[in-house]
Amino acid sequence: MQTLSGDHIAAWLERAADELEREKMFLTELDAPIGDSDHGVNMARGFTAVRGRLDTLDRGDIGALLRDVGMILLSTVGGASGPLYGTLFRDAGQKAAGAAALDLAALTACLEAGLEGVRRRGKAAPGEKTMVDALVPAVDALRAAQSAPLPAGARSAGGGASLADALARAAEAARSGAEATVPLIARKGRASYLGERSAGHQDPGATSCWFLLRSLAATAGA
Ligand code: ADP
Ligand code: MG
Repeated sequence: MQTLSGDHIAAWLERAADELEREKMFLTELDAPIGDSDHGVNMARGFTAVRGRLDTLDRGDIGALLRDVGMILLSTVGGASGPLYGTLFRDAGQKAAGAAALDLAALTACLEAGLEGVRRRGKAAPGEKTMVDALVPAVDALRAAQSAPLPAGARSAGGGASLADALARAAEAARSGAEATVPLIARKGRASYLGERSAGHQDPGATSCWFLLRSLAATAGA
């Protein structure tokens, strides 16, 4: 697969809803020591709402689809992460306006735009123990995959990584980024109220970013 269609994006969102439902307790447990124990519940509620609306959304225009998803997340996730995920999808959607399919370069541009939106809205820099710490390495991995030398089987006709391989790398980078939040001191959001006591715990929002990218990689590889 070298491009993602609107149907692929819809399949990803369904998979993500399943994944977040499955990981709901884990994410909520991560949010207990450094937050208010609701991140998993928030994310599962939001993506279940997205899944419930998928049949009514336009899949012919991925930009419109992602923007609509952003609006649904904005109104259903709640907490600090709701507006941030809403912005991520809305800004990614603006980048994809009118597109019926996304190749690796277009997908990279979308995630870049979503990350910029999150950073504009939440004002978090890398290393401040937030979702930014999973998104930045994921975007870097996608960028690198466009030009990186790869094993022959994982190479696309254009010489860069295949979409599935690039997404697998991005998901892996997000996992490393999420795990690397453990020793960090939170500087943004609710966890920052704990100051140094926030160290020693994995950030829930960085972890849900990893799960979303893992779902996308699985969809592209399926
Ligand atoms: P709340 O903290 O309001 O209960 P959630 O528990 O749903 O909201 O989400 C918490 C997550 O939101 C954190 O783990 C962190 O990744 C993310 N987050 C919080 N504030 C910011 C911010 N300013 N920028 C980026 N991400 C943030
Ligand atoms: Mg919370």
